Amino acid sequence: MATTNIEFKHVSYLWDEAEAAKLAGDEVALLIYRSNLLGADLRLTNYGGGNTSCKAMAKNPLTGEETEVMWVKGSGGDIGTLKKSGLAALYVDRLRSLKNVYRGLEHEDEMVELFNHCIYDLASKAPSIDTPLHGFLPFKHIDHLHPDAAIAIAAAKDGKAITAELFNGQIGWVEWQKPGFELGLQLKQCLDENPGIKGIMLGSHGLFTWGDTAYESYMNTLEVVERCATYLEENYGKKGPVFGGQKIESLDSASRKKQAASLAPILRGLCSSKQHMVGHFTDDTRVLEYINSNDLERLAPMGTSCPDHFLRTKISPLVLTLDPNEDLSDVAAIKEKLVPAFEAYRAMYTAYYESCKHENSPAIRDTNPVIILYPGVGMFSFSKDKQTTRVASEFYINAINVMKGAEAISEYTSLPRQEAFNIEYWLLEEAKLQRMPKPKALSGKIVLVTGSAGGIGKAIARKMVSEGAVVVLNDMNEERLAAAGEDFKKEFGADSYTTAVLDVTKVADINAAIEIANLAFGGVDIVVNNAGLSISKSIADHTEKDWDLLYDVLVKGQFLMTQAAAAVMKKQDIGGDVLNIVSKNALVSGPNNAGYGSAKAAQLHLSRLNAAELGADGIRVNVVNPDAVISDSNIWAGGWAEGRAKAYGITVAELPAYYAKRTLLNEIILPVDIANACFAFVGGLLHKSTGNVLNVDGGVAMAFVR
Ligand SMILES: [Zn+2]
Repeated sequence: MATTNIEFKHVSYLWDEAEAAKLAGDEVALLIYRSNLLGADLRLTNYGGGNTSCKAMAKNPLTGEETEVMWVKGSGGDIGTLKKSGLAALYVDRLRSLKNVYRGLEHEDEMVELFNHCIYDLASKAPSIDTPLHGFLPFKHIDHLHPDAAIAIAAAKDGKAITAELFNGQIGWVEWQKPGFELGLQLKQCLDENPGIKGIMLGSHGLFTWGDTAYESYMNTLEVVERCATYLEENYGKKGPVFGGQKIESLDSASRKKQAASLAPILRGLCSSKQHMVGHFTDDTRVLEYINSNDLERLAPMGTSCPDHFLRTKISPLVLTLDPNEDLSDVAAIKEKLVPAFEAYRAMYTAYYESCKHENSPAIRDTNPVIILYPGVGMFSFSKDKQTTRVASEFYINAINVMKGAEAISEYTSLPRQEAFNIEYWLLEEAKLQRMPKPKALSGKIVLVTGSAGGIGKAIARKMVSEGAVVVLNDMNEERLAAAGEDFKKEFGADSYTTAVLDVTKVADINAAIEIANLAFGGVDIVVNNAGLSISKSIADHTEKDWDLLYDVLVKGQFLMTQAAAAVMKKQDIGGDVLNIVSKNALVSGPNNAGYGSAKAAQLHLSRLNAAELGADGIRVNVVNPDAVISDSNIWAGGWAEGRAKAYGITVAELPAYYAKRTLLNEIILPVDIANACFAFVGGLLHKSTGNVLNVDGGVAMAFVR
């Protein structure tokens, strides 16, 4: 019966009897239900870590006879969001008969291809390397998880003895062995030698637990993890203070973020020596406890233990020797301190590769650190996109939890370097990397588009994100901005964007937006000056206030934003792009347009002046000149349409057709057309062009640049 009297303090009991009752009799549905519950609690397993399975009878489509089939999480994905499509279904007898052709540890990788001959459901996901770990055990339902609390024991020097004592011999122990066919056989051997056990601890790796039903397996898993966590909690501080006690005092929260935002672009530039990386920062209390401790110096170089952890975080982090209060305003001086640290890290990683590589090992990968620890301030991570970077950060927190637990009960041990290398440069892992889709054109790029909560700006932001970039959405209007954020979350996910309220006429707003970009992503690569407004008035009616507003937003705003962006780009020292959305009106003269048209002309020339000055830093400045973008644009609110219509002697309704007709191509211009022009400048094909103007106006001869 699915109820419990046990009070869980360290894990979440989420089983809903009514929900489960609806699935009764469908073991696969119950497996998925249980998996989703387990994956919902990150204390039970890290993101993407672990796998679950069930075995049940099913009809063999060839013979019509009942046969035993195993459904197990396939390669990739996360159990928290597991669906039937994420499972592989295999004939159990076929899988077990692979023992007969197994040639031994040296050849275990060749078994992976043979799993395909055991497939029962042809719609299966590719079987993962963990498949035999489930296959050789006889139990109906099995959970293999990576709970920090269990790995802390699994990675402790006396882990085996502690496990035996803590569970009264009911949890077996298998020494570290890389996941694969051999480990599957070792699990079975452990069970044969210890009949009646209810789980197995995998040295330096994780936990196997099981049950006859989905619920029994769920309860067994929760009870074992709860007991591990309770044991750790009882021991924190017993042997001595956690991590040897505090060595460094943290800055206060606001100062930590200020310091991190200031340093992030420099770190990002150094981490991006091979390809553009996206950053993540956290000053989580678990991180601070570790990085401010006496034991940091000893523990950090040891590296992480669970393979999942170091595959994402690299073997060890880079620990900065900067003072928490270090004055970061002198960028050259800071770089002078940081460059040797990065060079040493790259040399350490190269030496690790060289000393561990095999004849057929894949080529060395990026040698830059993924995790960077700044005692007193927090932890940075840098990887190819925001999700990967955020997950790397989460995994290092998992590793911190493991070190903390292992040190409290015994002594933390990491995997031997050669074992770590064999996983990191495993040919099967390499094949997985090779199968990944090619990075998109703007992968790793950080874009800030002013006025991007609607209209042209939002279309530009959407285009940039769909091409792989992350974006800082901003607008003066908080509500509009929040709505745009929600749209992006729905369309592209929460890792694709951040938001900043921004009035481009205010230096403080601009600095705050840059700080948000630095903290969220590590810096800025592409700034699109798009925020604007228009006022169409005759010379007689044009007020001083109109004039100042136009020049403040369009000209001063473009300048201040460019100034702030250029400073970040120079810190990063990996080039950059400024795109200015100007207007046909910068080149064409018409009535009732003195303020707007002359401000647009100023924007155009300012772009060229900035291009001339910033070229030496690899920062390109280009202009997109739209005309008459009518749909979804702010510009057409507030009387502008009426004003233009009046100037042309037509009605507002006649405007789109009027604009289309006066173009050479007879085209109506849409926001997406402007977005595509922006992408053309930064997508990779025009990287040798700066100071250019690209018109997107359907062809207006008067606006040709000459
Ligand atoms: Zn595992």
